[in-house]
Amino acid sequence: MTTTLSAPRLTLSRMHAPTLHTIPAAVSANVERMRSATDARIMAVVKADGYGLGAVAVARAAVDAGAEWLGVTDAEDAAELRSASIEVPILAWLNPSGVDVARAVADRVDIAVGSVEELRQLLADVTALAAGPVRVHLHMDTGMARGGVPLDDWAELLRVARSGRGRIDVVGVMGHLPCADAADPSVNAPSVLRMRQARDAVLRAGFGPLLVHLAATSGTLTDSATHFDLVRVGAGLVGIDPSETVALHGAARLTASVVHSSVVPAGTPVGYGGAFVTERATRLSVVGVGYADGIPRELAAGAAVAIDGIRCPIVGRVSMDQIVVDTGDGIVPRGATAVVFGPEGGAVPSVQEWARWAGSIPHTIVTGIGARVERAIA
Ligand SMILES: *Cc1c(COP(=O)(O)O)cnc(C)c1O
Repeated sequence: MTTTLSAPRLTLSRMHAPTLHTIPAAVSANVERMRSATDARIMAVVKADGYGLGAVAVARAAVDAGAEWLGVTDAEDAAELRSASIEVPILAWLNPSGVDVARAVADRVDIAVGSVEELRQLLADVTALAAGPVRVHLHMDTGMARGGVPLDDWAELLRVARSGRGRIDVVGVMGHLPCADAADPSVNAPSVLRMRQARDAVLRAGFGPLLVHLAATSGTLTDSATHFDLVRVGAGLVGIDPSETVALHGAARLTASVVHSSVVPAGTPVGYGGAFVTERATRLSVVGVGYADGIPRELAAGAAVAIDGIRCPIVGRVSMDQIVVDTGDGIVPRGATAVVFGPEGGAVPSVQEWARWAGSIPHTIVTGIGARVERAIA
């Protein structure tokens, strides 16, 4: 414990709302790390608002660092990127609200098609609107049964695609790896074979040239056989390596203010249900961030925040808008900054540590930050 913490400060610090800081330099450094792992082009996947960190901020940093494509779940997400003057090609692969073909053409969004039915619908929409042609990527099911056309349906898929010439341009073939996080190229081999079969079938059907793409972050970092022409990197942009083989740069920092501090005797129940009782006299601080802000409510022992370079454990239940932390010998002034997570290391917990405390994966921590949390660009 530092001596500065044990003496109450007379000056009042300024309070600040819980804030999620996006660190563009970290995103750029992560793109450079991907670049060193592959000769393929890099698509920066900015779905779910850039993994919670802001689609435009993450996309800009990635494109500045050399990403040549952007990927989103829904074609509508492209509008925000285009209005931020980001001009690189964009692919949308799920389109849960359907595809507005006129808008997709206007926004220059490529559409990935994951079933014969989707392709038929797309062709019908293009005809009805006399829009198009729409640039299409055909999505092969490479082992997930989660979107993607199974091999058995490819003859029909290609027959329908040929019938739609002029209304669509088939420009790409995509797949997605089910087990790349295992960092074991042998488990990817069947998917790689499937991709080659898909590519060859599309070329035989008279389409091409084609952009072939299969790998996401883990495949990019651990298996060059999966790279083909383009890799689709999302988690890796924000510092998450699902294969846990590479230390990337954390691109997120969540901060909140200490609202109130107190000195309590041994035997004091803390929070709802008195789930935690102090064993000794100690100092507690209330931090103004809770489960409505994305702090997981179910947390393993050890969950903590950093205040003034000291790791302070969370005690008692997480409330909707607040948590209580044990600051030990230190009485922390109102307005002091608590760092919930960040890339600094040391006392500052990482997103990966939060994922372990929550029994989850880092992705759910960064994408789960609540809408009322302010956003800032570091
Ligand atoms: C989310 C997603 C990606 C990016 O995956 P990461 O592991 O986050 O890099 C790539 N492709 C598809 C189809 C996805 O849904």
